[in-house]
Amino acid sequence: MKLSCKEASRLMSEGQDRDLAFGQRAALRLHLMICTACSRVKTQFAFLHRAAGEYPGPEPDDGPPKS
Ligand SMILES: [Zn+2]
Repeated sequence: MKLSCKEASRLMSEGQDRDLAFGQRAALRLHLMICTACSRVKTQFAFLHRAAGEYPGPEPDDGPPKS
């Protein structure tokens, strides 16, 4: 199975929401190895996903330091 860039980006987008089938993951990984444009897109997807999903929130307030 050989992916076009369009199919690869669709799989990357779907992969953000749910797990891909084994065959889809394998085909996508193969495409990313040979296609620099899509591997760059994947990096951006991963960054956006992290930024959206893991906002750390404010620092916990432990009160003033004891002296
Ligand atoms: Zn591509």
